[in-house]
This record gives sequence, structure tokens and C-alpha cells, in this order.
Amino acid sequence: MENVVVVGGGPNGLMTACELALGGVRAVVLERRTEPSTEPRSNGLVGEVVRMVDRRGLFERLSGRPGPPQPNSGYFMFAAMPLNLSLLEASPLYSAPVPELATVRTLEERARELGVEIRRGHEFVGLTQDADGVTIAARLPDGQAYELRASYVVGADGAHSPVRKAAGIGFPGVTYDRTTSRAAHATVPTDWLDPASGALNVPGHGPVMPFLPIRTARGGFSYAPLPGHAPLVATVEWDQPVSEEPMTFGEMRASINRVLGVDVPVERPSGDGPHVLRRINGGSTRVAERYRSGRVFLVGDAGHVFAAGGTGLNLGMQDAINLGWKLAAAFRTGIDVLDTYETERRPVADRTVTYSQAQAALLAPGDEVTGLRRLFGELLAQPAVVQKLAELVAGADVRYPAGDMPHPLAGWPAPDLELHGPDGIIRLAELVRKGRPILIDLTPSGDLDSGSDDVEVIHAKADTDTTALLLRPDSYVAWASNDPHPDVDALRAVIGEWFGP
Ligand SMILES: Cc1cc2nc3c(=O)[nH]c(=O)nc-3n(C[C@H](O)[C@H](O)[C@H](O)COP(=O)(O)OP(=O)(O)OC[C@H]3O[C@@H](n4cnc5c(N)ncnc54)[C@H](O)[C@@H]3O)c2cc1C
Repeated sequence: MENVVVVGGGPNGLMTACELALGGVRAVVLERRTEPSTEPRSNGLVGEVVRMVDRRGLFERLSGRPGPPQPNSGYFMFAAMPLNLSLLEASPLYSAPVPELATVRTLEERARELGVEIRRGHEFVGLTQDADGVTIAARLPDGQAYELRASYVVGADGAHSPVRKAAGIGFPGVTYDRTTSRAAHATVPTDWLDPASGALNVPGHGPVMPFLPIRTARGGFSYAPLPGHAPLVATVEWDQPVSEEPMTFGEMRASINRVLGVDVPVERPSGDGPHVLRRINGGSTRVAERYRSGRVFLVGDAGHVFAAGGTGLNLGMQDAINLGWKLAAAFRTGIDVLDTYETERRPVADRTVTYSQAQAALLAPGDEVTGLRRLFGELLAQPAVVQKLAELVAGADVRYPAGDMPHPLAGWPAPDLELHGPDGIIRLAELVRKGRPILIDLTPSGDLDSGSDDVEVIHAKADTDTTALLLRPDSYVAWASNDPHPDVDALRAVIGEWFGP
């Protein structure tokens, strides 16, 4: 019997498998594809996930940049309107421009380093569950069928999730069928580029700032000069005739012309691909009605999809981090906190529905939307509004339920503290990379004891009023104190609740 079978070797399935392995649990990944996908998808990680990958030692590997990640203090976009993050004292928004293919490659390498077994070419076809485990039916590329047993199954098998369907979990929400989105890696006339601002100066239209999409009465346009690649140009239009023909460069150019009212001579790039040339009709915003059915769990796109871009991996990889340690704990300590996966993660998806739908409304055609955008643009001059929206984009505004825990940090990711200990200065993000529970003792006496073999204690000093922090393996604060003599009974009660006696 396997401990956990993860169905789907995309970013979120691989992240789940890595977390399980960190927690000391054997994970087997079943992936239908015999080779990794070459279809470019996400252009990067946006939001709290960037801080979380730093807390797994993956930021440098993924971004190719030295850490720690820095918050974005320039511009970001919301519904094709610029969010001026420089208005904020401390921007809550992090981003890392890593193509999804590179993210998957890095996570697969990491999973193999941690001893995860990845079975490529193995397709999940069905499951039945009983009180002791789950029987999974799988198929090899030559059609040969086999079965395997596992204590738990994680469906990380994408938006059309066969696992979700097999577990009988509905996927309610909205599918918008009025939009057509097109995107292509393309060369643009070099003499249209402003070297100072990086803008694409479109004669007859004006400058289009990099990464800041614009909306016109006829649709949306964006220009994204991504590192190491030809720029990505993209449009979105409403109420276009649906075409089933393969997408062409001529179609991309005609779409830009319709949206901007100007012919932009984009050309197919030379050099190494894969190059995007894509048309997507419609888009869906849906959240699974449950994230758990008995011994079966959903993570990533299997649990939620959003028409608004830039959100999928922020949610999915954090689902994986949340579920991974809880499943591992069920084996290691026997403690069952598995139901908290849904109570913690589903509200984050619900919040992203708001984000997605608000953007869809603000991008739609029509004079009344133009009026609404004008008003919204005025509101965006106010730092408090920018702060609110930046937190929404980052997914930094949802606190996990913290019960009657009075401390303001409880239920939030631990702050990015610098800790001064006997071995020098260490960032909290480096301390938590093993994915184990930690008690950080910042009391003047430095003599706190967790009373548990499973909870490592770090004695340190830091520039904060907090005197003790109990962190879960996902680096969320389970308990905290500002008292120089923290209530040890209260601390141990929380340790018992999350990590066992
Ligand atoms: C065009 C586009 C642009 C995007 N841009 C962004 C962006 O900028 N930022 C962002 O955060 N997100 C973006 N997203 C969303 C992001 O790509 C997804 O959220 C992410 O790929 C979801 O990962 P996943 O692991 O949950 O699912 P997937 O990546 O879909 O992986 C699921 C895996 O399961 C496998 N599988 C399916 N069925 C079976 C089966 N029966 N047996 C075995 N294996 C199976 C599949 O082969 C696949 O490998 C974009 C998506 C698209 C389409």
C-alpha cells in the first residue's frame, strides 16, 4: 500500500509530492503524459507564493536571482489599470517572472532529489474508497491496466480533473463565452521601443507600457517583454465569431488592429521556442464544491479555475504546501487536521473569485464600464485603495481561522524576521525550509521548551515585540505571545492540537 498517490505531475502535483517527501511520507505521482508538456502557460508567479517558495529554498532555483525576493514597488495591474505600488509604505505584492515550463522542470528535479517516484505515462482511470484506503485504477501507454492501493489520493490533475469527477465533487461557477483571448510571442518594430521606459510607442495610439495591459472600447491589449524571449503580445475581444481553425499570425495582427485601431506589424520570432501562438475562446471561474471526499483531496486547478490571469499558481502551490504537511502529519503523528485543509484554503479561492469577477466586469465593453473605470481610476490615486487591491492580487488578505487566539499574528504567515542566534543572523524564511514545526523563542530568558520531540525550538533575538512564535510546517503562525513569560500551558495545548502530544 502506498502512502499517498498524487494524480497529475503539473506544478501543483509536484509541489504536493515535494511537501509529502519533506514530511517523511512516500508519494507516488501518476502522470498521464510520457514527456513533460511543452505548451507555454503561466509567465510567472504572483503573490504570496513567491514568499512561500523562498521558504522552501526554491526562490533562487526558480527565478535564477539571488534571494531574498523583493516586493514589487513599481507598477502592477488590476483590470488593465495601473496599481501604483510606490504609493505604499510597504508593498505586499511579490512577483517572479518564471515561465511555467521552468517551474515544472525545477519542481520535478526537486521531487526526484527528495525521493518521489514519478510514473510518467501512467493514466488515472478511476477509484473506489473504503475505510482503510483507496484503490486506484491506472493504465499504461500500451493500454495495460493495473491497480494500486493508497491511504490517500490527491487529485492535482488540472481543470478537467478525472479525480474530481470520480470522487463525485461538483465544480460550480461561471463560464464566460463572450471573450476571445489571443496571445503570441512576436517581434515588434525596434524603432517603436522607448529605451527609457520600455514602452511600445504605437503610432496613432500612443505608448503601451510593458506588462500594463490597456483597455479600449473594442477590447484589451498587452505587451510583455519577458526576459530571454521574444515579447508576448496579447489581446482580448468580446463577441467575436468562434473559430475552430488553427491560430495564425495574421489573425493575431488583425486582432491587434481591431483593438488598437492601428496596424502593428508583429512578426513570428526566430530562435528557440516553444513560442506561444494561441487563441482561447471563453474562460471559466469555478471552485469545487468540496476539496475533500473521504480519502481523496483536490489541489490546484482541479479545485479552482479563474478567468483572471496570474492567480492559478499562487493558489495551487499554496494548496499543496497546506495539504502536504497535514497529510504527512496524519502518518507521522497520527494527528488528524485534514479537514482544516478545506476550511483554510477554500476561502482563499472564494476571495479569488471576487478578484476574477471584479476584473471581468471592469474589462467588459460598453460606455457604462468606461464610466466605472474612470471613477475607479480616481480611487486608485488613494494609497488605501491601492493597498487593498494589492493585497487582493497577492492573496495576502485572507487569514486562516485562528479560533480564540488573541495574538494579531495568529493565522497569518510568519513575518519575514531576521533572527540573531548563536550561529549569526538567519532569515526566518531560511529557518523554515525543512518543513517541520518550529517554536521560535525570543524571550529575554531564552528558556522556552516545546515539550514535544516533533517541535524544534530555536532560541534567538529579533527586532519585534513578539516573544514567542509557534510555526506550522507551512510557516503559518499557530500561536504567538508578546509576554516575556509566555503561557506555556497555552503553548502546549496548541502544540497538542496541531502536532500531537
Ligand atoms: C494560457 C494560460 C496562461 C496562464 N497564466 C498564468 C499566470 O500567469 N500565472 C498563474 O499563476 N497561472 C497562470 N495560468 C494558470 C496555471 O497555468 C494553472 O493554474 C496551472 O497550470 C495549474 O497547475 P496544476 O498542476 O493544478 O494543473 P495542470 O498544470 O493542468 O497539471 C495537471 C496534470 O495532470 C495530468 N493529468 C490529467 N489527467 C490525468 C490522468 N487521468 N492521469 C494522470 N495524469 C493526468 C496532466 O497531464 C497534467 O500534467 C495560466 C493558464 C493558462 C492556460
